[in-house]
Amino acid sequence: MPESTDLKPKLYDTMERKVRELAPSDGETYRFYCCGPTVYGPAHIGNFRTFVLQDVFRRMLELSGLKTKHVRNVTDVDDKTIRDSIKAGQSLKDFTESWKARFHADAAALNLLEPHLEPGAVDHIPEQIALIEKLIAAGCAYASADGSVYFRIAAFDDYGRLSRVRERELKAGAGESVAAMDADEYDREAVGDFALWKARKPEDGDNFWPSPWGEGRPGWHMECSAMAMRYLGETFDLHGGGVDLCFPHHENEIAQSEAATGKPFALHWFHSAHLMVDGGKMSKSVGNLYTLADLEAKGYTPAEVRYVLASGHYRQPLNFTLASADAAHQALGKLAKAAAALAARAGDPAPPRYEDLPALRGALGPFAPAWEALCNDLNTPDALGKTFGALKGIDVEKITPDEAAAHFRALHFVLGALGITLPEAAPAEEAPPEIQALAQRRWEAKQAKDWPAADALRDEIKAAGWIVKDAKDGFELERE
Ligand code: AMP
Ligand code: ZN
Repeated sequence: MPESTDLKPKLYDTMERKVRELAPSDGETYRFYCCGPTVYGPAHIGNFRTFVLQDVFRRMLELSGLKTKHVRNVTDVDDKTIRDSIKAGQSLKDFTESWKARFHADAAALNLLEPHLEPGAVDHIPEQIALIEKLIAAGCAYASADGSVYFRIAAFDDYGRLSRVRERELKAGAGESVAAMDADEYDREAVGDFALWKARKPEDGDNFWPSPWGEGRPGWHMECSAMAMRYLGETFDLHGGGVDLCFPHHENEIAQSEAATGKPFALHWFHSAHLMVDGGKMSKSVGNLYTLADLEAKGYTPAEVRYVLASGHYRQPLNFTLASADAAHQALGKLAKAAAALAARAGDPAPPRYEDLPALRGALGPFAPAWEALCNDLNTPDALGKTFGALKGIDVEKITPDEAAAHFRALHFVLGALGITLPEAAPAEEAPPEIQALAQRRWEAKQAKDWPAADALRDEIKAAGWIVKDAKDGFELERE
């Protein structure tokens, strides 16, 4: 088994269809782009599943010693933002800024690291126009009579390599087609061609920009290509998003970027499976489309929500239920208790800061398997299981303060990798006098070696909701 210090994190690549090692292609900084939120309402916990997993991914890279550059955009112009800003009687900018602020507040509550850059589509119209011009010049795009511009997918041989959409089409026969999956534009040479620039329509209100093809706005796919290449270069290390983005969004991003530059776009593709709620798709009409605020109103903390979202493997759909949030509450309580016990034994050290965690990688002791699990295709459930396994194997009473301090730091390394924040350990509840009296009688029975009486008293204490434990010179009582 490799030393934890030498471990190279690995992740499944949707394009190559295999687990691959992650290393910066420039030998210095791991550069990655994640599709961000469309800011026209509060993000739901499904969106946050994807963002939390991307956050754990970034933490895995950073704790393994890599420098990162993380770009996540904000989609601040599209049909929905335009439609709803007009409905709200606000300018597009005021409307999207307020939802962006809400997104930031939720993201901070969920302990997401801020991306290094968070560009928005509206601020990058010139970059998008320049890319479209390049595609027209290369013969890969054409303007239609109404002033829209389309990408000619026939000009890009590799179209469909990521999502295998052509194979799916062949299998599905006439029933399913590229066009049917992305059919909202008409004035095209071929049904699969997609819009790079959308000519102004009356329902766009004041939201249009001048271009060589007339007034309009960029198509959605354009923004991610233009901003990813602006901030990360024409070729960069990884691109991520929820699995729904694989087709057509990411497929189209690849086509228009690679057709324009002749170079590979992203070198690795990271897609996370969707969050389901109560076994089904989230939906407003069923009433199970939860936002963070909805769950906080039910008494759950953001840390509990994050715990649930991080607890499933990213390649499997995860089913969210309120019972899973209750289980997260229990799990966090156990972790907090274990951390507090280690801290007490170690003389109450301060937990290590995030920046200091990478230096601890070589000293993880029993927590090394948890870190290895994470590095092995971001296996968060296995990492959590191994963390609890490590804690089970530690008897705080039997270790030295130095050992306790090392375990305390290693536990915080794993928690930091997963972005888990612990609740304040609840102050120990004082048992009422009648329970104290029962425990005293049990202690005396034990001293007198009257085991049946001691056992009966322990059961009586348990029935009242307390657990009695032997301590050095007496007993301790804990809430069950
Ligand atoms: P949107 O705000 O719709 O642009 O989506 C933001 C991110 O959330 C994208 O990466 C989507 O793929 C992702 N996403 C949307 N729905 C879900 C879901 N139910 N579970 C996980 N990720 C989702
Ligand atoms: Zn995108």
